[in-house]
Amino acid sequence: MVIFKIRILYYYLLLRWKRKRLVTAQQIKQHQIRLFRKHQKQLTNAPFYKQLSQQKAAYEDYPIINKALFMKEFNQINTLNIDCDKAIKVAVDAEVSRDFSPQINNITVGLSSGTSGNKGVFLVSPKERARWVAGILDRVIGLKLKKRKVAFFLRANSRLYESVNSILLAFTFFDLMNPFEENLKLLEKEQADILVAPPSVLLAIAKEKQNKQINILPTKVISVAEVLEPQDKLYLEQVFKQTIHQVYQCTEGFLAATCEKGVLHFNEDFILIEKKYIDKEKRRFHPIITDLLRTTQPVIRYELDDIIIEKKQCACGSPFMAIEQIEGRSDDILKFINKEGKLVQVYADFVRRSIIMGDDAITFYKVVQKSLTKIECYLEVDNNNNVSLVRGKVKQALQKMLNKFNISAIEIEFTEAYKLKKGEKLKRISNECQKSV
Ligand SMILES: [Zn+2]
Repeated sequence: MVIFKIRILYYYLLLRWKRKRLVTAQQIKQHQIRLFRKHQKQLTNAPFYKQLSQQKAAYEDYPIINKALFMKEFNQINTLNIDCDKAIKVAVDAEVSRDFSPQINNITVGLSSGTSGNKGVFLVSPKERARWVAGILDRVIGLKLKKRKVAFFLRANSRLYESVNSILLAFTFFDLMNPFEENLKLLEKEQADILVAPPSVLLAIAKEKQNKQINILPTKVISVAEVLEPQDKLYLEQVFKQTIHQVYQCTEGFLAATCEKGVLHFNEDFILIEKKYIDKEKRRFHPIITDLLRTTQPVIRYELDDIIIEKKQCACGSPFMAIEQIEGRSDDILKFINKEGKLVQVYADFVRRSIIMGDDAITFYKVVQKSLTKIECYLEVDNNNNVSLVRGKVKQALQKMLNKFNISAIEIEFTEAYKLKKGEKLKRISNECQKSV
C-alpha cells in the first residue's frame, strides 16, 4: 500500500510536470507521437497487435476498432493472456455478492455499465490504477494539504476508487442500489467537502437542498458517469452556488475533465484523439481514442459511440481540445421521414434547444422517440405554472423545429409519469424505435 501511494505521488508529479511543458498543438502532437513509439514496444505482447508493433507501424496504420471488436478480441488484445470468460465470471460474481474487489493475479477486473446490452470487461494493473488516481487528483479533485471528505455515489464500488483513500482524502461510498432516502440521511450526516455523483443523482439531491430537506454545503461538486446537460448544469450551479465539474470517463479510460472555467478538455497528454466527423459542417464527431499509457488491455484507435461537439477556444487558455457538448450516443439520434420520403436525422441538441426555448418553467424533461411518426414527452414544470399551457408551447416549438427539417405530421404525446429505475442512467433524449428503421 505504501508503494502504491508513492507511485501515485510519482505519477502525479510526472503528469503535472509534463502537462506544463505542453503549450502548443504542435508540441502536443509531437509528445503523443513520442509516447506512441514507446508504447508500441509493449504492444508486441498483444497477439492482436504483434505484427504491426514489430513493424513499428505509425498509429494511423493500426485498425480502428469498436466495442464489439474490442470484446470479441479480448484474449488477443490483452497483454497478459487473460481469458475473457474467466474475467467476466470474476467480475459478475463480485457484482452479485457486492464484493467490489475482483482481481486476477493482482489485475483489477471491472464490468462496464454500458447501456447497449453487450457486456464489457476491463483490466487494470496496479500501475495503471496508480496513474488513474494521479490523473483524478491532478484534474478533478485537486491536492490540498487539508483533510477532505468525499461523498461518492456510484453503481458499483471498485478497488479503483477505494485506492484514493488516504490521509488527505476520506471516501464514503453511497451505493445507488440503496434507497435514496437512506443515502440522503447519511449524506447529511457526513457533511462531505466534495460531492461526486451522476447528474441524475445530483439533480435529486439539489431538489432536496432547494426544498430545504437536506442541509449540505460541499465546496466541490463533480458530475460523473452520465452526460451533464447544459440546463442541468445551470440549475446545479444555482443550487450549489459554484462551478459544477465533470469527468468524462468510460471503461476505455479517463478521457476528459473540466478546467477552472467548467469546460471539459480531453487529456491529450496521454489520450490521442482522432475525429471521425459525422456531419457536413464538421461540427460533430465520434472520437477515436488511443490511450498512450495503458498496456494491460491496450486501447488503440477505439471508436466511441459518443457524439462530441468541439469548442474552438476556451478562456482558460489550455491547449488541450475543449468540448462544447457531449451529445450522447448515435443510437439516440432521432430519425424521421421527411416530406420527400427521405430519412432525416435530428440530433439531440435540436430537440434540447426547442424544449428549453419552449418555456422557462420547465424543470425536467424527457423525450423518447417511439416510432417514425411518434414522440413521447414527459415534462415537469415549476409549481406556479399551468402544465397544459407549457405543454402547448413545447409542442409548438418541437413542430417548428421539425418543420425546418421538412418533417411534418409527427404525433407529439405527453405522459404523466416517468421514473428512473434504480441504477438506470438518465437519458434526456432517446430513440426507442431505431431498430425498426
Ligand atoms: Zn478550459
